[in-house]
Amino acid sequence: MKLGALEAGGTKMVCAIGNENGEIFERISIPTLTPEETMPQMIEYFKKHQVEALGIGCFGPIDLNRQSETYGYITTTPKLAWANYDITGTFAKELGVPVGFDTDVNGSALGESVWGITRGLENSIYITIGTGVGVGVISGGKLLHGMLHPEAGHVMVKPHPKDTFAGGCPYHGSCLEGMASGPAIMKRWGKKAQEMSDVPEVWELEAYYIGQALMNYILVLSPQKIVLGGGVMHQKGLIEQVREEVKKQLNGYINTKEMENLEDYIVLPSLNDNQGIMGALKLGLDELMMTKA
Ligand code: ADP
Ligand code: ZN
Repeated sequence: MKLGALEAGGTKMVCAIGNENGEIFERISIPTLTPEETMPQMIEYFKKHQVEALGIGCFGPIDLNRQSETYGYITTTPKLAWANYDITGTFAKELGVPVGFDTDVNGSALGESVWGITRGLENSIYITIGTGVGVGVISGGKLLHGMLHPEAGHVMVKPHPKDTFAGGCPYHGSCLEGMASGPAIMKRWGKKAQEMSDVPEVWELEAYYIGQALMNYILVLSPQKIVLGGGVMHQKGLIEQVREEVKKQLNGYINTKEMENLEDYIVLPSLNDNQGIMGALKLGLDELMMTKA
């Protein structure tokens, strides 16, 4: 089976061809310009490969409500050229195949849960800490949706006593994304995160904020495993610090076997940064199965 996968990002569009086993045969990367410039190139690529279905993991916010008139649209994105754009419908019309659609971070959560480190678990979460912060939730064996989709990267966090930074989120100031994303680190310290790998204060604050958010996700969602991805997690030792913070902040309140073994509970992604594109393959496959059923 030949499936198309698209990881739609604010700076680049990764298009890939793969199959129902999550195997990727080839991929290309196209800069994200306007839909008029970028869409024809992607359509041509997927047409050339005669894919049977396409799955898209997309930057958001997006409309995932199948009852809505704007289902499959990118909605209020700050990437203005793509705001209110019917990306799903356009591909469906041009390619004539089923098109699955979800958020980029849900794609990564799905990829890990089908082929990666959260495989076989009914409840898990995938968090990306990069240019933004996003959370994908698998609950009861399915991606969690709702009125829209979870936007748990914007939960509020309590400022660290040593932190004077007001936060960088244009909507909430000091939410998790406003305090802990790559650009937030850069704004607070005046240097890129990757240039401060040996400044302990940077990572003390970072672990404090991520730890708080994880505590909240644990309390609300009760995941059986937590995957921490995204560029910021490339900082060596950060995941260990996050585990310590989670332990400290939960303060013994939750007593499960998972809590006794946080190295197995809070983990890095396992698919060599292919989790997003593999998840998109699965979105395409699921859509194909649904239309066949
Ligand atoms: P995106 O979120 O745009 O998909 P990434 O997940 O790669 O991209 O995240 C990019 C962010 O990660 C940047 O803000 C960058 O400063 C940060 N980053 C990249 N490498 C590192 C590193 N080694 N340590 C800490 N932060 C990093
Ligand atoms: Zn916010």
